Amino acid sequence: GLPTAPPPVLSERRKTRQLQVGSVGVGSDHPISVQSMTTTVTADVNATLQQIAELTAAGCDIVRVACPSADDAEALPAIAAKSKIPVIADIHFQPKYVFAAIEAGCAGVRVNPGNIKKFDDKVGEIAQAAKDHGTPIRIGVNAGSLDPRIMAKHGKATPEALAESALWEASLFAEHDFHDLKISVKHHDPVVMVRAYEILAEECDYPLHLGVTEAGPAFQGTIKSAVAFGALLRQGIGDTIRVSLSAPPIEEVKVGHQILQSLNLRPRKLEIVSCPSCGRAQVDVYKLADEVTAGLQGLEVPLRVAVMGCVVNGPGEAREADLGVASGNGKGQIFVKGKVIKTVPEHQIVETLITEALRIAEENGYT
Ligand code: SF4
Repeated sequence: GLPTAPPPVLSERRKTRQLQVGSVGVGSDHPISVQSMTTTVTADVNATLQQIAELTAAGCDIVRVACPSADDAEALPAIAAKSKIPVIADIHFQPKYVFAAIEAGCAGVRVNPGNIKKFDDKVGEIAQAAKDHGTPIRIGVNAGSLDPRIMAKHGKATPEALAESALWEASLFAEHDFHDLKISVKHHDPVVMVRAYEILAEECDYPLHLGVTEAGPAFQGTIKSAVAFGALLRQGIGDTIRVSLSAPPIEEVKVGHQILQSLNLRPRKLEIVSCPSCGRAQVDVYKLADEVTAGLQGLEVPLRVAVMGCVVNGPGEAREADLGVASGNGKGQIFVKGKVIKTVPEHQIVETLITEALRIAEENGYT
């Protein structure tokens, strides 16, 4: 059967305060959630809701929408009401939009202390409004928009500068007895970013939202985010994550899930274990792995499928897999739990694996 015991993790979560972001609990008592951000013009309610629906289907837990104009602020009530996942309004410059977002029923508001000098004297009012509506606030520090005062002190966006900016802002809210805060300190350099979060983790018990900002196009951004999040999650640091990619946001969600699944912080779903191929391969392993991946796409089952290039090592190397194929001589040995159950011609490998995958899924109660 498929594994039922909770899989091992590398470390205990850092203990944090708990927040409720709409229907999603955030903090060490809750699973780490995956976030993304819409790329539509927020004021275009239909387009934004459509993209939110796509993100929801991809497994996005919490979505953020930018709110740079009055039109966007006006769209928030409809978006917050119709989205199936909690909506956080992202506000940089205008305190009035913070109030609008809270009134609109957004599940949270993100503010950037570097951009909100005007907020200083408004923190009390914001804290009161947020308290009245039970709306948590994320203090989202960004290396690109650090408070000039802190920049002057540190010379540049060092880890200490990022952390100091966030903690200073948090202290302003704390003075008003408001603690429903989540903090992020994003930087494009994973080394700076990791250190900044380590400082925060030592200095406060607020939940932390991880992100490498401006991480780049999909390939580079995926790697930067994976290594940075991995370094932090290894220490139990991180309560929500957002992978920033110069790519459609649905890709961010997929990468986020993969990162969490790789560390057993989310149940593993379909996993393709394919060999790198070598001089022994008797089949185009890359092509076969791609076809099997495509053929099994959408199968939401914790299933490990091995794709091996040769029959010499194939079944042995993949004994841990639930299902697999080892190719050779124009044929594929199909194996289940390391035992060969049948041999099929090469052109039937993909369909046979799909049939077997569905059978195993059904046998284990997934349909
Ligand atoms: Fe090489 Fe066979 Fe191992 Fe693939 S399974 S890497 S082809 S030895």
